[in-house]
Amino acid sequence: MPRASRRSFLGAALGLPGLAAAIQTQTSPYRRPKLKITDVRTAMIRAHGLQLHVRVYTDQGLVGHGEATDAAAGGAPLVTGFRRGLIGQDPLNVDLLWERLRTMGIFAGAQAGQYVAALSGLEIALWDLAGKAVGLPVYQLLGGKMRDRIRMYCDSQTNLPENPGAKEKLQQIKDLGFTAIKTDIDDARDPMRWDPVNWTASNAEIDTMLRKVTFLRESFDKRVDVAVDMHGRYDLGSAKRVAAALEPFRLLFLEEPVPPENIDAMRDVRESTKTPICCGENLFLRHGFREVLEKRAADIIMPDIQKCGGLLESRKIADMAHTYYVPVAPHCVVSPIGTMASCHVCAAIPNFLVLEWHWIQRLEVWRNFVTEGEIIEKGFIAVPDRPGLGVEMNEEAARKAQVPGTSWFAA
Ligand code: MG
Repeated sequence: MPRASRRSFLGAALGLPGLAAAIQTQTSPYRRPKLKITDVRTAMIRAHGLQLHVRVYTDQGLVGHGEATDAAAGGAPLVTGFRRGLIGQDPLNVDLLWERLRTMGIFAGAQAGQYVAALSGLEIALWDLAGKAVGLPVYQLLGGKMRDRIRMYCDSQTNLPENPGAKEKLQQIKDLGFTAIKTDIDDARDPMRWDPVNWTASNAEIDTMLRKVTFLRESFDKRVDVAVDMHGRYDLGSAKRVAAALEPFRLLFLEEPVPPENIDAMRDVRESTKTPICCGENLFLRHGFREVLEKRAADIIMPDIQKCGGLLESRKIADMAHTYYVPVAPHCVVSPIGTMASCHVCAAIPNFLVLEWHWIQRLEVWRNFVTEGEIIEKGFIAVPDRPGLGVEMNEEAARKAQVPGTSWFAA
């Protein structure tokens, strides 16, 4: 029977769910590993916010490990809910499993938030597993690598020279060799703020913001790039004034000067200034980024790979951005496991700019979290050639950050 008519015959005989099941069990390209998912378990870590760690187990002893963040608080029960759709399935059909779980949740919040974050953690575990099963690093499964090492920027968590230990902290970042650095200039508790709820920045507040950026800019060599985050805490007029005032600093980017929900407002800021505008850490899936790109609302996008849908979804978002000549600087606040997962995407996309690192205040946990030890060298991460993500959790060290009262990959 010709292939096309055989397919339609199968489709008619089995119905679409039956056909999907037949593809799942019957296709077996040469030497393709045959695996079945036997369990999915989670653990919760508190480091820079909450992180949900996800493990996918198989009938052949291979285990994949992924991580979700930020919108991860309700992730454990969501992943438990995914189990029914995963047990007995072939974990190598990563995108099929992702698509099923995503569409299954359309009426349960699968457009954004915790649902998509939990799905991201699971998807990353599936890629780790797939890489281990076929003996290839994840970047290879995402299209191969365009670069051997990933440039990181350090979120300094340091902003004013009079803050205790500020100069020492910046010196520490300098000694670590980073070539890009970020600071937060928003401050809801600024004493010069006239109203704790209203989002208008006073002149005095803007002066403080400029002082923060000046301190950082003057503390580093000109070759070190400086980025600034406003955490979407200001109204449109304030955002425009700050973006204009920051123009002389030639920033790498100004992040979320207004909240992320109204893309037109973000575009208005971008159109008003020469300062490059970056946004996207609170957007989900390709759909969330489509509007930003179509409306030319950002110079740079910053998907959070552990939150916006996972590795392949981020690759797809990056590819969409590339058609608008928009580079990608992913948001990243996760452990070395999630950070390395991000590195595989960053290695595979043409328009990668720089990747965030946010654990300067948690160096001890960071350096011991995976058995490979410190993965950042002089501000760069070398993309590993080991199968899967290429890093494994050091259980003893990681458990020091376990959220009290939560289970640890319990069956
Ligand atoms: Mg941010």
